[in-house]
Amino acid sequence: MRYFYHMQFVRVVGQQELKKHFITEIKSGNIAHARLFYGKPGYGALPLALAFVGYLFCDQRQENDSCGVCPSCLKVQKLQHPDLHFSYPTVQTDANKSTLLIDQWREQVNENPYFTELDWLRRIDPKERNMIISVHESQDIIKRLSLKAYEGGYKAMIIWLPESMNPQAANKLLKILEEPTPKTVFILVADSHESMLRTILSRTQVVRVPKIDDDEMKVYLRNSEKMESSAIERVVIQGDGDFIQAMSAIDSMDDSATNRDWFIKLMRVSYRKDVLGMLDWAEEVSGATKDRQKVFLEYALHMVRQSMLKNYTGDQLTRLTQDEEVFLANFARFITGNNLREFMLTFSDSHYYIERNANSKILFTNISFQVMRYIHAA
Ligand SMILES: [Zn+2]
Repeated sequence: MRYFYHMQFVRVVGQQELKKHFITEIKSGNIAHARLFYGKPGYGALPLALAFVGYLFCDQRQENDSCGVCPSCLKVQKLQHPDLHFSYPTVQTDANKSTLLIDQWREQVNENPYFTELDWLRRIDPKERNMIISVHESQDIIKRLSLKAYEGGYKAMIIWLPESMNPQAANKLLKILEEPTPKTVFILVADSHESMLRTILSRTQVVRVPKIDDDEMKVYLRNSEKMESSAIERVVIQGDGDFIQAMSAIDSMDDSATNRDWFIKLMRVSYRKDVLGMLDWAEEVSGATKDRQKVFLEYALHMVRQSMLKNYTGDQLTRLTQDEEVFLANFARFITGNNLREFMLTFSDSHYYIERNANSKILFTNISFQVMRYIHAA
């Protein structure tokens, strides 16, 4: 799934009420010096923080959003505005500082600003060691904010996952929260606020970022993902107000569409004894990852079982999507008591061999030839 983020409110999924609230606050010019957003990452606290800064910095604010095209907006969008600073947890090494990882940070946020602590850790450290915001980082935050604003307006510091500050780091930061430099806005973006120092909490305006409203999630998916309404319904239910969860529901739907297409293609080319088509199919499936191939074989087993059920019980017991129903309405008669066992063995044995590093091109070619024999022996 492609996702382009423009640091505008319109790109943040849902959260209409908070957006309205922030816009009013920024327009009033009476802006809280330090705030803490907290909520699950999939609710969108970080994208909201970015859109907030985008609007605050925009040279040509629109009624309900930043303009997206002025020089400030363009710099914010690239995360290269000299007055927009970031701090985030890093793995402890000698020279550990957020600024050293700014390229990875830009990459992550531009790719998708809805991400978890684990996504970030995997990006910066293959060994997945512990991450913290250290006292050196706190010092660096203070140093960076002591500079005058380059563009003469506001300075903003977004601190992502402030709960990963150790007590020394948090205490160091308290000082600047207590005696802010003028026109400086702190946004702390936390998963939860329970583990935060009380002293920090008492100096920030605490904003709970709630679940995304189902209807707002629907609107977003309809406009941005161009999905059909039945698919949207399912994604919204599985997403449960969390956009990260919704995205993984979309991904698994993509997977099931691919499974279905591969299965149908296999059966068609094998039925027609189309050898070139069979080789082509084997080539395509063997290009996928091993895990993906195993998921397909599990799906093939499921479809064979469903075909058998359809033959014996009619439609009552089958668990099929509409597309699958249509396909199996014709195909199911090729799965009979004579070949069911062979079909099952072929798919389950192949699953076993993939696990043991069989050559997948040969393996899937064999599958297609076996399926051809079974169908014509039906
Ligand atoms: Zn602008």
